[in-house]
Amino acid sequence: MDTPNKFTRLAILGSTGSIGTQTLDVVEHSGGQYRISVLAAGSRVDDLISQAIKFKPQLAIIARRDLAGILADALSPYGIETASGPEALAEAVTREDVDMVVTATVGFSGLLPTVNAIMAGKDIALANKETLVVAGSLINRLLKQSSSRIYPVDSEHSAIAQCLVGEDPESVHRLIITASGGPFRSWPARRIAEATAKDALKHPNWSMGAKITIDSATMLNKAFEIIEAHYLFGIAPERIRAVVHPQSIVHSMVEFKDGAIKAQLGVPDMHLPIAYALGCGKRLGCISPRLKLSDIYTMTFEEPDIKRFPAITLAQYALERGGNTSCIINGANEIANAAFINGKIGFNDIYKCIVNIIDSVEFVEHPTLEDLLETDRKARHKASEYISSL
Ligand code: NDP
Ligand code: MG
Repeated sequence: MDTPNKFTRLAILGSTGSIGTQTLDVVEHSGGQYRISVLAAGSRVDDLISQAIKFKPQLAIIARRDLAGILADALSPYGIETASGPEALAEAVTREDVDMVVTATVGFSGLLPTVNAIMAGKDIALANKETLVVAGSLINRLLKQSSSRIYPVDSEHSAIAQCLVGEDPESVHRLIITASGGPFRSWPARRIAEATAKDALKHPNWSMGAKITIDSATMLNKAFEIIEAHYLFGIAPERIRAVVHPQSIVHSMVEFKDGAIKAQLGVPDMHLPIAYALGCGKRLGCISPRLKLSDIYTMTFEEPDIKRFPAITLAQYALERGGNTSCIINGANEIANAAFINGKIGFNDIYKCIVNIIDSVEFVEHPTLEDLLETDRKARHKASEYISSL
């Protein structure tokens, strides 16, 4: 990153969430390498106020407009500018005092700020995988016309990026993405059908926000990560496979044409991939607990069970069908995932909802940004209708 300052100035979108708070931990332990220009959150206004008082950004944004007054009243004595609404997030990423944008909001909300950040030439530490799921081709086209670079935060993609350092891209045979298997890995199908949100929110290895934890339980998260890897690394879908590794020690692997496999290992803790992204591939100090190899008794690897977790097959389907397909899947999933958390539908209804509405939203082969916004709106509408009909 070319910055005239000794420090990198960050906009953190989704600062009150799991990735957002861990990003602030990394900033705090970086010895002054980072300054915060913008903090943005959805609705947890008290957390945002505390963060702003501590990290002193130029601007704090709350997406929920009805909380704008509370934020402004709390932060004006500190001389911190405030704003509200989704368009404030999309605008803030283009500010002069921002060098890098950390996209850590959930779901489709990450798309517009990321598009704007790329068009403004800002580097991106990308946690919001839904951006590449819904708009991978568009994002890659925009990147070609911009000086902006994307550094993945997702642990699997960070692992792959680390394995690829110094390698000729032509020598890659395939990418092997590890999956923990989620909380239902060893549950029989009949028990999975009865699973509640409380069951699904108990992830065995990772502590994450609710939406991605449910996506991990259905394994749609792994499908999304295959799509994300395809767009990040330019590898054909048939050369990306997922393997279940319940210990979550190997974060992903690259197999090369000579048969060598490189892996990145570590404890399941997001501070390391966040720090690697903020460092643009340079290593910062260690704030994750260190992996003690003597504590690892066993590492196992197994094929994902597509009968119990059919959502994982949606990656191949979405990439083969192309166009706006993965945007439809994402929109339907956001509605179904939330309905499951709210106890309105059963666990298996999430996948059923997605496959039921795929054909009911018009297929667009080469979607523009406007097409994707429209696709997302229609997919949500169709998914809500489907859920009401259950
Ligand atoms: P959380 O739910 O913990 O946090 C989400 C953050 O985004 C919160 O700050 C939330 O604000 C904010 N937010 C939500 N909706 C909006 C909106 N419409 N506008 C503005 N801000 C919004 O999620 P995670 O941190 O777990 O995940 C963030 C992203 O990172 C996701 O895309 C996820 O897939 C990805 N990711 C997460 C990993 C993890 O370990 N957590 C690992 C790999 C990827 P508030 O809470 O104040 O409402
Ligand atoms: Mg991941």
